[in-house]
Amino acid sequence: MADDSFDEECDYLFKAVLIGDSAVGKSNLLSRFARDEFRLDSKPTIGVEFAYRNIKVGDKLIKAQIWDTAGQERFRAITSSYYRGALGAMLVYDITRRATFDNLKKWLEELRHFGDSDMVIVLVGNKFDLKEKREVSEEEGRKLAEKEEVCFIETSAMENFNVEEAFLQMIAQIHKITSQKNL
Ligand code: GDP
Repeated sequence: MADDSFDEECDYLFKAVLIGDSAVGKSNLLSRFARDEFRLDSKPTIGVEFAYRNIKVGDKLIKAQIWDTAGQERFRAITSSYYRGALGAMLVYDITRRATFDNLKKWLEELRHFGDSDMVIVLVGNKFDLKEKREVSEEEGRKLAEKEEVCFIETSAMENFNVEEAFLQMIAQIHKITSQKNL
């Protein structure tokens, strides 16, 4: 389903953003998805980063442009430009840190304030490899997702578990909504 060549003509370009508290694993989810890499150290740079990946959905080639806050969330410096044009958002928390789950309410408010009303949101509980230390049950994640009417998945960027699935779920859903709009 995935295609990493960058030179082919794409049918669509989708922008999506990664949001959530610091150190929940956003950068590593993105580098796993875009380059199949994982880093033990946190990134040193401050600023917005993005990465591309080409994905085949049905017979269409989609270029997904995924934006990462690259540390800016600490300073609450994310502005409307970060969300502008985004068709999807991956809202990430760390299953071993309850505070990152409790803060989702704040992130959802921000998303709904700055983002488009029909933006596809995927709630991602990351660090599944540390499930023995979990502070947030899968059930709680799922219930919140149902309440907020968003998708839900648990992942491990470290072990490359469900990362591809999380991004593909979001991209396929964006494609579905966009195609319906263009009918
Ligand atoms: P960000 O600030 O949300 O972008 O988080 P990072 O991607 O920089 O990750 C923060 C820290 O968590 C780093 O030390 C990563 O190595 C670690 N980390 C990220 N994802 C995982 C994961 O799935 N499992 C484990 N055990 N550690 C992770």
